Amino acid sequence: MAAFSSLTDRLSNAFKNLRSKGKLSEADIDGTIREIRRALLDADVALDVVRSFTARIRERALGIEVSEALNPAQQVVKIVNEELTDVLGRGVDRPLNFAKNPPTIIMLAGLQGAGKTTLAGKLGYWLKESGHTPILVAADLQRPNAVTQLQVVGERAGVPVYAPEKGVQSDGGEAVAAPGETTGDPVKVARDGVALAKQKLYDVVIIDTAGRLGVDEVLMKQARDIRDAVQPNEILFVIDAMIGQDAVKTAKAFDEGVDFTGVVLSKLDGDARGGAALSVASVTGKPILFASTGEGLKDFEVFHPDRMASRILD
Ligand code: GDP
Repeated sequence: MAAFSSLTDRLSNAFKNLRSKGKLSEADIDGTIREIRRALLDADVALDVVRSFTARIRERALGIEVSEALNPAQQVVKIVNEELTDVLGRGVDRPLNFAKNPPTIIMLAGLQGAGKTTLAGKLGYWLKESGHTPILVAADLQRPNAVTQLQVVGERAGVPVYAPEKGVQSDGGEAVAAPGETTGDPVKVARDGVALAKQKLYDVVIIDTAGRLGVDEVLMKQARDIRDAVQPNEILFVIDAMIGQDAVKTAKAFDEGVDFTGVVLSKLDGDARGGAALSVASVTGKPILFASTGEGLKDFEVFHPDRMASRILD
């Protein structure tokens, strides 16, 4: 995974020195912990997360017993793998929460440029491929191009889009037009989109919402208003894995602002340091449900903390 390639190299180096050891001394362990700490900090993992992570590893590594199955270096790698899985998932690895009575409502939130609109297409495509009948709702009325962009994404994914303008195109023929007149009210758009889904039996509604360049209260209130109006089953916070140390601040602000239910890490294909993304689950206690790994429709995967930890340590 490009976003973690440097971290992977650094961690693998940190373990290298342990390989020749038959038994680990406290100094060996501390040396390795120091390297792990530096690698994580250089990858932009938040300081608090690094501290507690390395403290747990140190404690467990000091307790390593001689084992027939694994040498000390392998045991340290195993401990790091387990702790990394915990940091990435807080013990939670859950699927998307579907409504008992459709439609399932998924709202996307995050900063502008985080990858929400792109994700709406990927998620729609993935759901369609797994037998669902999703519809995308364009409730980002902030950016002039956002509605059109979602329509393009929907067309590419073969998923209908509900938008507040007339002439909105749909799933190859059937016109899914707004029932009322054009409106600039994102809450109304979201509500109307859900009503349309109920009427036409779309079973998943994906609502794209506005993002700003920085966290702001007007945006947050708007997102809350949409949330309160449609009561989503999932509020997915989309975060650009490349935004560095700002990730923690942004995630906390959205957590307080809209109390999201899950995280989507986007742009994990980028080659900047993606470590901040590793802090997000830990800092918010919310599970990462998906990863976005490119601009294409299929550059998308269900996130499993244990698999991601193994890939980072690969
Ligand atoms: P939004 O403002 O949150 O809706 O963000 P967009 O979906 O418009 O994405 C912003 C930019 O990031 C666009 O140029 C996308 O093509 C790009 N993008 C989105 N997701 C990914 C990803 O996973 N990887 C890469 N490399 N680019 C992405």
